[in-house]
Amino acid sequence: MRQKAGEWSNPEMYTRNVWFTDKDDNQGLSLRYTGEVFFDVQSPFQRVRILESPKYGKLLTLDDMFMTTEKDEFHYHEMISHPAMFTHGNAKNILVIGGGDGGTVREFLRHEGVEKVTMVEIDGEVIRACKEHLPTIAASFDDPKLNLIVGDGIAFAREAANEEFDLVIVDGSDPVGPAEGLFSVEFYRNCHRILKPGGILVAQGESPKFNEQAFTELNITLQHIFGKENAPISLFYVPTYPTGMWSFQYGLKGSAQPKTISKETEIDQFVSAKGLKYYNSDIHKASFALPNFVKTLVNG
Ligand code: SAM
Repeated sequence: MRQKAGEWSNPEMYTRNVWFTDKDDNQGLSLRYTGEVFFDVQSPFQRVRILESPKYGKLLTLDDMFMTTEKDEFHYHEMISHPAMFTHGNAKNILVIGGGDGGTVREFLRHEGVEKVTMVEIDGEVIRACKEHLPTIAASFDDPKLNLIVGDGIAFAREAANEEFDLVIVDGSDPVGPAEGLFSVEFYRNCHRILKPGGILVAQGESPKFNEQAFTELNITLQHIFGKENAPISLFYVPTYPTGMWSFQYGLKGSAQPKTISKETEIDQFVSAKGLKYYNSDIHKASFALPNFVKTLVNG
């Protein structure tokens, strides 16, 4: 169904034929956008832009990569947060590294049992852009349970105390620029150290189709640090990431296995009370089922 022109912020811009492509040397994903640029700042870390797509609404790009859009952000943000929350069962103190758009902390703060979320985002310009132009995503920055720190998440993890957090969430960008160290062995050793017993790490895990090498290397690192059986992978679908198939990779510092969870009623009551649009109890379990080619990538 076509959207009515009057529903857009600047209807005549929507007839323009300008495209933004997120690509590597061999493949990519293009979205038509209006040509209007709402925010364009070269920060010390990256180029931060807000554009608008007829299909996906306003969207955030960092350097030349899509990060999130108004219309499909729920795929990513519900899947980075709720499976870990329900697998853990009693998470109160959460660390989010990256996540400057605010969608991830918004989802964690839907859980009443959460007492504190510390978010460490390196780039204050990402936070500023999203507060100004993506307010439905950057919706929880004023929540009193949020401790927002603008700084390097790698240094924060290095300096944090042992066994401090129930969950550590790495909502980082691709392994270039400031996020490169978010894929290092030393960083994940620190993440393991600062998790309490029973704690769970969830990391933006790249795509087994678009970024096979980064995807596989991250899983090898997590298997090495957390143990082979304690590094499960959750696959989910994001229309605005190249190839559409993306992952969150886990490190479990305890025995709770997300794929065998049996909390269907609790999960689905939460889903319905909060009006979630992607996550439910079936998706929770199904997302940990891997196609054979992915099993081969990570198991050799
Ligand atoms: N949540 C988004 C989505 O829906 O896809 C994508 C994540 S994007 C907001 C990743 C964030 O990680 C960026 O804002 C980037 O500035 C931040 N980041 C990259 N390296 C970092 C580091 N070393 N420490 C903290 N934040 C970092």
